Amino acid sequence: MTHLAKFDEDEELRTFLQQLLNDKCLINGAERFAQKLLEHGLDGIDAEERAFIETEVIEPYYSSCEDCGKTPNWADMLDTYDTGLCKACFKKATTVKPPVLDVA
Ligand SMILES: [Zn+2]
Repeated sequence: MTHLAKFDEDEELRTFLQQLLNDKCLINGAERFAQKLLEHGLDGIDAEERAFIETEVIEPYYSSCEDCGKTPNWADMLDTYDTGLCKACFKKATTVKPPVLDVA
């Protein structure tokens, strides 16, 4: 898994990680490693820590849409994790069609 490959340049991925921290999604080691990564970047963690973050921090929340199968971008990842749907499919599923008027 290489979710972190572009971590240092990927603002959305950083925000995603920060959101996991803010929401207290991460516990114990996971929280500490995520914090370290955010503070020091990829160069600040070793291979073992990186592998841990990939599997224990990112992977559990890495979701794809149950409807269209697309993987959302990081900014929408937590919503997709919560709802099981990407933004477009969620909108489609929750948009109520206006009633058809029975015109006599
Ligand atoms: Zn979808």
